[in-house]
Amino acid sequence: MRIYVATSNAGKLREFQQAAAQLGFGEVDISSLPLPAGVAAPEETGDSFEANAALKACAYSRFTNDLVFADDSGLEVDALGGAPGIYSARYAGEGAGDAANNALLLERMHGVEARAARFICAIAVAQGGVTLAVFRGTIEGELLRAPRGEGGFGYDPLFFYPPLDKSTAELSADEKIQVSHRGAALRQLLQWLRTFAERTESD
Ligand code: IMP
Repeated sequence: MRIYVATSNAGKLREFQQAAAQLGFGEVDISSLPLPAGVAAPEETGDSFEANAALKACAYSRFTNDLVFADDSGLEVDALGGAPGIYSARYAGEGAGDAANNALLLERMHGVEARAARFICAIAVAQGGVTLAVFRGTIEGELLRAPRGEGGFGYDPLFFYPPLDKSTAELSADEKIQVSHRGAALRQLLQWLRTFAERTESD
């Protein structure tokens, strides 16, 4: 069973492939969509994770007859009214890296007692320019006051996950996919895909 992922990021592709196997969907072949040269990534103009994921999946699905999925993810902090939200990758400005984003987050949260936060991941699947389904996964946690752990990426060193008593930067890749927003959204996509394939076969 083949599905394309709308990303040119080799790390993300590998993570999705490993996650599918870890979540018990080894039969699903996740491949990077081959795009004609010069195709620009669509602008992420949506006002939600879901809208941005759908926008990307739709745009890329015009280049194949097969199913294409795209994801959009970020961090939502209650005390900051949901920021950085859909702007998570560029919280400290366009092109700002993880270190600058994390530093700004720590600064904004300085002295703030209420530290509830969550990572959110939306995954949209599309075919022929039409969105077929959108899924949302979340992981609830608390913002730390200083970085903890060496693994992961983005805001992981600042995100504490109480059930495992670790920051998400302290989780193994396998542990993280089992409990993360991305794992939860991917699991829903893969379950949907199984049903979709069964229905298509029986038609
Ligand atoms: P995008 O979904 O690739 O646009 O990523 C959005 C941004 O959200 C990333 O650059 C990270 O800053 C943040 N983010 C999303 N998921 C995670 C995660 O699992 N750990 C840490 N940061 C994340």
